[in-house]
Amino acid sequence: MDDSRYKRLRDADHRHLWHPFTQMRSWMADDEPLIVERGEGNWLIDVNGRRYLDGVSSLWCNVHGHRKAALDAALETQLGKVAHSTMLGMANVPAIELARELVAIAPPGLTRVFYSDSGAEAVEVALRIAAQYWQLRGAPRRTRFLALTESYHGDTVGSVSLGYSEMFHRHVKPLLFPVLKAEPPHLFRFQRGMEADAAQAAAIAAARDLIAANRDELAALIVEPMMQGAAGMWNHSADYLRAVTQLAREAGALVIFDEVAVGFGRTGKMFACQHAALSPDLMCLGKGITGGYLPLAATLASEAIFEAFLGEPHEYRAFYYGHTYTGNPLAAAAALANLGIFRDERVIDRVQPLIAQMREGLAQRFGAHPRVADLRQAGLMVGIEVMADPKSRTAYPSQALTGARIARAARSRGVAIRPLGDVIVLMPPLSITPDELDLLLSTTREALEEVTAG
Ligand SMILES: *Cc1c(COP(=O)(O)O)cnc(C)c1O
Repeated sequence: MDDSRYKRLRDADHRHLWHPFTQMRSWMADDEPLIVERGEGNWLIDVNGRRYLDGVSSLWCNVHGHRKAALDAALETQLGKVAHSTMLGMANVPAIELARELVAIAPPGLTRVFYSDSGAEAVEVALRIAAQYWQLRGAPRRTRFLALTESYHGDTVGSVSLGYSEMFHRHVKPLLFPVLKAEPPHLFRFQRGMEADAAQAAAIAAARDLIAANRDELAALIVEPMMQGAAGMWNHSADYLRAVTQLAREAGALVIFDEVAVGFGRTGKMFACQHAALSPDLMCLGKGITGGYLPLAATLASEAIFEAFLGEPHEYRAFYYGHTYTGNPLAAAAALANLGIFRDERVIDRVQPLIAQMREGLAQRFGAHPRVADLRQAGLMVGIEVMADPKSRTAYPSQALTGARIARAARSRGVAIRPLGDVIVLMPPLSITPDELDLLLSTTREALEEVTAG
């Protein structure tokens, strides 16, 4: 182990880097940051050669793990052709082919693909398309958006307006535009102590009232289908998703599904809205779209929306929006190879027994644990809610950093996970093996035990 190299890197990190979502004082006080050097299958390897099972797919992205041969090869092939060319005034081969393939697998009715570079931008694009759509359609009053409380849609100002979280975003509040917020079933259940069925009925009734009161001004509803990820893994049923979608449509509004986290097999279907057999008008994709290889995102739109933007150049109906790297050929080549892997390796079929194993393993190892308040799962997307006293729903004090300490304890046992507050998140690659999944669950349980015992 070349300890001097590790120290050099650590000191340079502490001196020059500013990490996202990170209190840098705590970060800089930590003498042992994990510095990744390589990846191999479902494992990350740090500069000291220590191995960590990648329990959250490198922040929910690497669906097939690391150094996936088909992805490496696709990138090498594309590198031999061209790494970047612009989508302004010209097209490129992988961007065209990827659009065709995305439309082929997307829920019915989505026929157009607009590229960007991150999930937040995919949401920003959907928001801007929806807003302009109603102006172009001669309904200038339709300017309001309806989102779920504690949804997360990314970190640009537009997407933060939709997914505002008091804890993270209060310092940008003056910059945000007002958004209507419907409380999801989760809040009725856990803040008001309702049973699951009553909570869902109350959430639907609340959404109905809100939509009725804003019928003529509603531009679009935006939802993370089946699971509000960054909120702390708040799930809802396909019935709830169908009900709010229908209410929005009855009011004449568009429906946007943010599948940035739940898309690409994460919930056991290619797209989470397929659990409810729904098609949105706009769908946002990111994270897993390139198999976790390169930053790429896409907003899919219906032909009816697309057509509203058509006209003569001098009418200025075009969608004046874009980023420099929009439709980057290298990223598109990775995404194409990713879709090829889903097809060739029958990933969605292969993941089903793993989902069952996850369900059983969670129940077995955490179901009766005295500090576990709730287990939430959609496919291989899991939240384990940890509390000081689950019966009275008393949380640990936030200064105790319980979730972070559990993650650290898991790391010292060779498993890399990142919690959301005191919700332990498990989001393994879809390529995780049964043995590795077992290791993930048993190690997480040991870490929970170590931190919460006594
Ligand atoms: C992560 C996430 C985003 C933002 O994606 P970035 O690539 O981080 O900008 C948007 N929506 C959802 C549901 C997400 O989970």
